[in-house]
Amino acid sequence: MDCIFCKIASGEIPSKKVYEDENILAFHDINPQTPVHILIIPKKHISSADEITAENSYLVAKIFEAIPEIAKSASLSNGYRIITNIGEDGAQTVKHIHFHLMGGVKMPEKMA
Ligand code: AMP
Ligand code: ZN
Repeated sequence: MDCIFCKIASGEIPSKKVYEDENILAFHDINPQTPVHILIIPKKHISSADEITAENSYLVAKIFEAIPEIAKSASLSNGYRIITNIGEDGAQTVKHIHFHLMGGVKMPEKMA
């Protein structure tokens, strides 16, 4: 499958990693929109949050278990925002589920 985040997970495409374990990977977004902009992905391909099932939801739990540690290592002691975009209306451009961890600035209150 021609998936850029699967290639990042396998190491075929380089990334600036900030966290990795057997299930998940976190790396800096190539086009950061906030001072801290990290993407967190499961290594296993899941297209989006719309494809979460009872069988793969443990990977989302693993990601959320790692988020406090990743946020701490990025010095986000004053808070941050987690976003996942889904499909066309959600403005998802990479079809491998990923969570944007954004911070280092006061985020706008409006979400859209
Ligand atoms: P989304 O619009 O939610 O699908 O977000 C995709 C994100 O992936 C965007 O913020 C891109 O800047 C980011 N991105 C695309 N290619 C790469 C890459 N090779 N390394 C790091 N981030 C990337
Ligand atoms: Zn993938």
